[in-house]
Amino acid sequence: MSIVDNLNKIKSELRDSVRLVAVSKTKPLSDIEEAYKAGQRIFGENKVQELTEKHESLPDDIQWHMIGHLQTNKVKYIAPFVSMIQSVDSLKLLKIINKEAKKNNRVIKCLFQFFIANETTKFGMNKEEAEDIFSSDEFAEMENVEISGVMGVSTNTSDKDQIHREFHDLKQIFDDLKSEYFNKNQNFCELSMGMSHDFKIAQEEGSTIVRVGSLIFGNRNYNI
Ligand SMILES: *Cc1c(COP(=O)(O)O)cnc(C)c1O
Repeated sequence: MSIVDNLNKIKSELRDSVRLVAVSKTKPLSDIEEAYKAGQRIFGENKVQELTEKHESLPDDIQWHMIGHLQTNKVKYIAPFVSMIQSVDSLKLLKIINKEAKKNNRVIKCLFQFFIANETTKFGMNKEEAEDIFSSDEFAEMENVEISGVMGVSTNTSDKDQIHREFHDLKQIFDDLKSEYFNKNQNFCELSMGMSHDFKIAQEEGSTIVRVGSLIFGNRNYNI
């Protein structure tokens, strides 16, 4: 199946309320152009240099989402154009994003990444860390970041019950934070969860953004 066919199949399986981020990491510009021609406008990347290069080469109306671990010293390269940073995992990082966004006269949308998997390699915060940030004076003074919601990556397992549980936990975190800190804030509305192998489960658990790569573009080859 072609990229266009893959995209159409996935979109036919998504509810209207769920947005698709096409994860194009490691994939060539031509693949992204093909998806773009089919109407896809939101793309996700996990490396700053690759993201910046692709942004420079491709149409301006693409919305680029940073979905990978972000080092504070690299925020400045993506701050001028990034549409959303889904992988905020510390106050330190959020402060730098706010600072760089201000320099660019922008407000950058951010998701807090939560650790929901039972693996040690996945980045992310726990609820207490997020609560500490949201109740801090430093956070109250930030004017150039908008907290749009939460993001999480499930355990890489074939155990569907476990994946359901992990996404259910993330939805609970989302609901709790919403009622505790963002009750009157319409902007806090996104629940980014679900990848190629588990986006249908994520959708059942209430996802509003799914991040799908290999099911659209084929398997990634990290050796080239
Ligand atoms: C690579 C990646 C994806 C997409 O993974 P697929 O399994 O190819 O769909 C989604 N989210 C994050 C954070 C990723 O790093």
